[in-house]
Amino acid sequence: MSTDSIKTDYLVIGAGASAMAFVDTLLSEDAEASVLMVDRHHRPGGHWNDAYAFVRLHQPAEFYGVASRELSPGHKDAVGANAGLYGLASGAAVLAHFDQVMQQRFLPSGRVRWLPMTDCTGPAEAGTGQVHTLRCLTTGQTRQAQATRKIVDATQAQTAVPSTHPPRYDVAPGVRCVPLNELPHIRRPYSNYTVVGSGKTGMDAVLWLLDNGVEPSRMRWIMPRDAWLLDRANLQPGAENAERSLEAVIGQAECIAEAGSVPDLMARLEARGLLLRIDPQVTPTRYRCATVSRAELAELRRVQDIVRLGHVRHIEPSRIVLDQGSVPAGRDTLYIDCSAAALHIPKATRVFDGDRINLLMLRTCQPVFSAAQIAWVESHVSDPAEKAALCSVVPVPQVPEDFVSMWAATAQNAGRSRQNAAFNAWSMQCRLNGIGLFLRGLPADHPRRESLLQRLGQSAAAARARLPALMSTMADLSP
Ligand SMILES: Cc1cc2nc3c(=O)[nH]c(=O)nc-3n(C[C@H](O)[C@H](O)[C@H](O)COP(=O)(O)OP(=O)(O)OC[C@H]3O[C@@H](n4cnc5c(N)ncnc54)[C@H](O)[C@@H]3O)c2cc1C
Repeated sequence: MSTDSIKTDYLVIGAGASAMAFVDTLLSEDAEASVLMVDRHHRPGGHWNDAYAFVRLHQPAEFYGVASRELSPGHKDAVGANAGLYGLASGAAVLAHFDQVMQQRFLPSGRVRWLPMTDCTGPAEAGTGQVHTLRCLTTGQTRQAQATRKIVDATQAQTAVPSTHPPRYDVAPGVRCVPLNELPHIRRPYSNYTVVGSGKTGMDAVLWLLDNGVEPSRMRWIMPRDAWLLDRANLQPGAENAERSLEAVIGQAECIAEAGSVPDLMARLEARGLLLRIDPQVTPTRYRCATVSRAELAELRRVQDIVRLGHVRHIEPSRIVLDQGSVPAGRDTLYIDCSAAALHIPKATRVFDGDRINLLMLRTCQPVFSAAQIAWVESHVSDPAEKAALCSVVPVPQVPEDFVSMWAATAQNAGRSRQNAAFNAWSMQCRLNGIGLFLRGLPADHPRRESLLQRLGQSAAAARARLPALMSTMADLSP
């Protein structure tokens, strides 16, 4: 190896939310480990660096960020469409959190080395899996890094956002189509606004336009596929919300235990207020853990001109051509591209893969707790079989069937975790663990504590018993 090389215990590729949560817990749980973190971005935070100015978390900040320090000041929002619910950190607050963690904890520890603006181009040579080539994006200098313990791949999310992923449809000359990052920079009103994309980013664009005074009659929303949504009120921290949040978890398990098929499950979850949809007349075909408040949903429903003709193929000055037809378009229209699919199916299928660790999801919709859990397991468990058992991969959700697959893998991990007393003790106090947070809201003298815990156990057991039959119905339903 050349002299310009770095030896480290862990080479962490990527410094997004998952990497930050992983390294934070590794430093707490392993007193010796040294870490080299590299990322193409100039600061930690991954996709948050490329996000639009008005981006916020979709779930409460109480269980986001790294385990060792709070991200949220613990306030409820007093105004706006999240009023009455715990605050959603802004993108700027999320980036500040990760920057402070790097500057005030990781680097002063003397155990973390950080190379921003650095591309990890992969193994230096075939067969040298632990030696990777790093290329500085500003100087072009290359060097090698050797991981004496593990390579940690924190790039599996492949997060795509509109500013980094241009639309896959054609836009004719003269048509103005911008990523939603451009919205705050509009300097003249348009006659019409068309939002392209029905994911959470599309919802954010619609809400931003409404917030900024655009009449719904001037808005059109291209919605290739409707999605089932989670009600944020059911995911609230705070002792005052503990019963409701746990009831929501119990409700999910009870619905699984009673369901005859996935459509039946979705209907049961909706009837209990656990899932929402934008249009009660349209059956959603997507499920991606997107979370809204009821007030946001009411706002979104104000837009009446919704185009459900599949994906956009091209936009011309006077019409939009989609998979299943075309619609006329006004000339002075601003198109807001929200078509990048943020979540992707990871390439890796195992967390612990020889000398490599892949940061994949272990709990439903909880990427940062999952990364912290992986670090804990890496630090304390040496038996490969036990490591694998504690870290079954929870799929990244795409379709309603994934609600069931995610629940099954999460339940398997949770069940296995309870058998490991040390892990259980750590996870129950880890601030990133949503369920732990809800349970901590129920003190020992709470009048409903025992009955809720009993129902939690019973409903989970009933759901587990039902899963094989329910999953056997899914093959026919998958797209
Ligand atoms: C708008 C939005 C809101 C969200 N809200 C929530 C929420 O409220 N709660 C929640 O739990 N989750 C939320 N998420 C999901 C979550 O924040 C992250 O998307 C998820 O954890 C993925 O983060 P990551 O660190 O795995 O990946 P990324 O953020 O994609 O980071 C990966 C990093 O790896 C770097 N990289 C890739 N390849 C290389 C290479 N070869 N060399 C060097 N660097 C490389 C990239 O530059 C990037 O910085 C949200 C996501 C989005 C898009």
